[in-house]
Amino acid sequence: MSATATAPTVKVDRKWQLFVDGKFQDGAGERQLTDPASGRPLCRVAEAGRQQVEQAIAAARKAFDQGPWPRLTALERAQLLFKLADMIDDNAEELACLETMNMGKPLRETRFDMADAANCFRYYAGLATKPLGQTMAVPAPSVTSVVREPIGVCGQIIPWNYPLLMAAWKLAPALAAGNTCVLKPSEYTPLTAIRLAELLSELELPAGVVNIVLGDGAAVGQPLAESMLVDKVAFTGSVKTGKTIAAAALGNLKKVTLELGGKSPMIVFGDFDLDTAVDYALFAIYCNAGQVCSAGSRMIVEQSVHDQFVKKMVERSRKIRVGPGLDPDTEMGPLVSEQQLKRVLEYISVGQHEGARLALGGDRPGGDRLAGGYYVNPTIFTDVRPEMRIVQEEIFGPVVVIQKFEGEEQAIDLANGTAYGLAGAVFTADVTRAHRVVNAIRAGITWVNGYHNTYNECPWGGYKQSGWGRELGTYGLEAYTELKQINVNLDPQPVRWFAP
Ligand code: NAD
Repeated sequence: MSATATAPTVKVDRKWQLFVDGKFQDGAGERQLTDPASGRPLCRVAEAGRQQVEQAIAAARKAFDQGPWPRLTALERAQLLFKLADMIDDNAEELACLETMNMGKPLRETRFDMADAANCFRYYAGLATKPLGQTMAVPAPSVTSVVREPIGVCGQIIPWNYPLLMAAWKLAPALAAGNTCVLKPSEYTPLTAIRLAELLSELELPAGVVNIVLGDGAAVGQPLAESMLVDKVAFTGSVKTGKTIAAAALGNLKKVTLELGGKSPMIVFGDFDLDTAVDYALFAIYCNAGQVCSAGSRMIVEQSVHDQFVKKMVERSRKIRVGPGLDPDTEMGPLVSEQQLKRVLEYISVGQHEGARLALGGDRPGGDRLAGGYYVNPTIFTDVRPEMRIVQEEIFGPVVVIQKFEGEEQAIDLANGTAYGLAGAVFTADVTRAHRVVNAIRAGITWVNGYHNTYNECPWGGYKQSGWGRELGTYGLEAYTELKQINVNLDPQPVRWFAP
């Protein structure tokens, strides 16, 4: 840390409990959380056992079947969500600090995430009162209207990379539509979700509308996905877990949306300003230390500028200031956990064994200051082949592969050459080519001459194995509704189908 800067902190040595049926309660057990910046103990949190998961589901069921929430007017639900957004803003600095202490990412990122989370609640509060139905022109004399209704009880399972923001992406549309929720944060990063529950309880949300159960996938996530009392499961996380959840949801054919991983390409043509492209490339891969589902983890660079691109990327990456998230000078923080650190280091060694050239990094920062934390230096592989595991598999760390292409067709083939289809970008000064190439990318989120722009207003989700369905925008609200058609006969007469 610089001599003048002081790190803000939040008191974490307190009780962190489950939130079930409007009350905070202890769990069946406890988990020790770790500070990713130092590897030292952070605090202990309650964890649910199966009985408490069932209690939370029953509370959400009762709140949906008998409670006031789905029966409130859209305006009443919206007002509560607007208030929640303001409360997140009012507590943004504390929440950002807590997120950084728990997850590790730099404060400048968590501050951005908190504002984004508040705006997500605001967006869906606004959308709650907007028309979602339709009237159909059907053969007279009858009229059909199509309305959207809440699905019911929603199990929501989220990862650790954007803890509060992912909670907002799940809760905001679900609540706006009138559903009730059981949210399971990642076992690594539950703290801001519990603070959110505290804000919700100050707002006097009816009991059981939002329940927050803490614990790991096997103990809490799996029973939520399996429960016959849950009507929808919304999941963000890895492809492997997504498939397990889809299978678990089959029991009662609950609705399923899955936001899964990616191995997203960023194509750079030689006609685009190289320094600007490199600047975007750094943001694409090193933001949140690469722990972003849409991370630009594959640079696909035109042969004519490839060597220059690599040289500039190495020079710029080398200068990135790696350090604790609370240090205002830090540009890239630690990975979230020791497990994630091991996974990323393992992939780096896989890349070396596969014969890729390590152009930068691959190691951990030295020195006492960062010893114990889960840091990995910015890492660049070149001379890769498409079939290598480091090209095909999501690493979820600050590790990028740079591929070379000659001609548009090869760029597109390489870009589409994985099982994923979450995001992709093309950088070119030629607007016609930009359209051609971006249209050919098989991904749900694409950018031209930009990267990572994410808007509450626009759909988010993937093609291929990157998921099912979309979050955000009007699409995200629709995903929390059932469609009902109501046909009204305007001229009831005997049908006379059968003889009188
Ligand atoms: P993960 O799949 O290991 O875990 C995600 C959540 O699922 C956690 O809460 C975990 O406890 C729970 N879980 C684990 N096993 C379960 C089971 N059998 N049943 C029910 N729940 C279970 O993922 P992660 O490591 O927490 O997050 C990283 C992954 O998330 C990456 O693959 C990343 O790409 C993806 N992600 C995707 C998006 C998106 O919008 N597409 C956003 C963020 C993260």
